Amino acid sequence: MRQQLAHVLEQVLRRNPGEQEFHQAVVEVFDSLEPVLRKNPQYVDAAVLERLCEPERQLIFRVPWVDDAGTVHTNRGFRVEYNSALGPYKGGLRFHPSVYLGIVKFLGFEQVFKNALTGMPIGGGKGGSDFDPRGRSQGEVMRFCQSFMTELYRHLGEHTDVPAGDIGVGGREIGYLFGQYKRITNRYESGVLTGKGLTWGGSLVRTEATGYGTVLFAERMLQTRGTSFDGRRVVVSGSGNVAQYAIQKAQQLGGHVVACSDSTGYVLDERGIDLDLLQQTREVERLPVSIYAERRGATFVPGRRVWEVGAQVALPCATQNELDEDSAAALVRSGVIAVAEGANMPTTPSAVALLRDAGVLFGPGKAANAGGVATSALEMQQNASRDSWSFEYTEERLAGIMHSIHDRCLATADEYEAPGNYVVGANIAGFTKVADAMLALGVV
Ligand code: GLU
Repeated sequence: MRQQLAHVLEQVLRRNPGEQEFHQAVVEVFDSLEPVLRKNPQYVDAAVLERLCEPERQLIFRVPWVDDAGTVHTNRGFRVEYNSALGPYKGGLRFHPSVYLGIVKFLGFEQVFKNALTGMPIGGGKGGSDFDPRGRSQGEVMRFCQSFMTELYRHLGEHTDVPAGDIGVGGREIGYLFGQYKRITNRYESGVLTGKGLTWGGSLVRTEATGYGTVLFAERMLQTRGTSFDGRRVVVSGSGNVAQYAIQKAQQLGGHVVACSDSTGYVLDERGIDLDLLQQTREVERLPVSIYAERRGATFVPGRRVWEVGAQVALPCATQNELDEDSAAALVRSGVIAVAEGANMPTTPSAVALLRDAGVLFGPGKAANAGGVATSALEMQQNASRDSWSFEYTEERLAGIMHSIHDRCLATADEYEAPGNYVVGANIAGFTKVADAMLALGVV
């Protein structure tokens, strides 16, 4: 079985040269799969692994647009429709200058297993562009989104492929994308995108869902050790959508959140982060966290990673590979009990190993941050029935989903003799769900 995994991995590396993040995501899943393949030779016979590593469809397209000064720009757009064994392709769009095919593929690959873990009928996909929304006017962002959708619309549909947001894509961008889709297709097809505004088909709790879900997952992990967020020192990285609502839920559960960050540095605010001020600064005015620190009279530390301040609970909610071995060692020295990933693959493999060896509870992103996409599936349900649910009911559904993902990870880890290992549990539970569906659907 080890040979089989090595063979498929060799093929993945050869076929996808230079896509480091994608390779990392595949290796991380493969590391858990040997006992599964031993127990289920039918997966090997049907080449499930080979098929799973090859996206069903990969789209790359030109996105031309004109800025406010009349200059023409040419960005690159992507959509990787990764796997549709469980439902329509589902996953966000990322607008960030670092986006290239390898990033989209890593995110799509993760999304397949994450979506399977939610228990909802959704396949996996991901997309985006190397467009940098920072410093762009409203009009420029709108024209970019319209151009992006003018190409992508032909591949989407509520039963085909349903994008949402990710880094650089929030409610504003989803609005422009939906408007253009509606105009081109002449259909008010609410279920074609999620993360919509509340007056035009969006779901309550979707905005909060990723951050809330991460904290609910972490709370459940803490409960296994007979403890909770109450009175704990919490550090969050990032200050975007996921970070903001992770901070809010952690505070609601009694956590003391003392730091957050952006790409310029971090804020240390020993009185506890003031979420209203953070949202006004980051979300409404789109200013860096240094301005929050200035307004709040807190400390801003430029160019350094937030983990050095130490915490009992650490929530990486920014981006991939932002928590490395040195950061993990600093967290362990400060007495960290739990780390839950709000972002996708924020912890490097060596940092994960270090945390696990130190006995720290570690919730991998494909389980811990699945609340966002799970609530997107709830938004699709509401769209399909032309209904809208209350905040309380939707949040209850989200909490139920997070608890069941947590419990399934633990039960699967136990079944495969890796008690308490959420990485193994998430990878195996996600994989077997998709693999069984792929077997049932034949060689397609
Ligand atoms: N981008 C989010 C994720 O990484 C959400 C995707 C969605 O709601 O479709 O899961």
